[in-house]
Amino acid sequence: MKTVEEKMKIFDDLYSQACELLAQYNPCKVTNGECCRKVFCCYGCDYLGPKGCKVEALLCRIWLCESAKRNVDTSFIAKMLNIYNIGKKHGLLVARGSRKDVFDLISWDAEEYSRNVCDSRFALVHFEFPWGKTYKIVAVVNNL
Ligand code: SF4
Ligand code: SF4
Repeated sequence: MKTVEEKMKIFDDLYSQACELLAQYNPCKVTNGECCRKVFCCYGCDYLGPKGCKVEALLCRIWLCESAKRNVDTSFIAKMLNIYNIGKKHGLLVARGSRKDVFDLISWDAEEYSRNVCDSRFALVHFEFPWGKTYKIVAVVNNL
């Protein structure tokens, strides 16, 4: 099982790789404040600032809409899929989630797992998502 510090390093490596791929392929084709889908997928997110995303959001860097996917080739998709699979394996992917959100959730898992849910793969959690609402969700307890 990876330690939290090891997972942080993996997160940072994956984040850098995803950013490099996006810089290389430029799938969103942003010009004059407009992307190729015309409506930014970040719309309404609390992490959106005047100069774009204010946090390191790994899943957001991996995800592309259908319009952006038309601007990439199979090599891009294979590399991003590899990043996605590693991120998923280590529980590093949270929709519209910052690096801090990811590791808050991971820390919660580790503590709660040892206290309450030793014989269960799932637990109910209240998790505050970045866009401001608190949801009760089912979370997979990782690293069994
Ligand atoms: S993923 Fe799609 S909607 Fe989001 S910025 Fe890129 S082109 Fe726009
Ligand atoms: S967290 Fe995701 S949706 Fe929110 S601003 Fe950053 S990239 Fe956009």
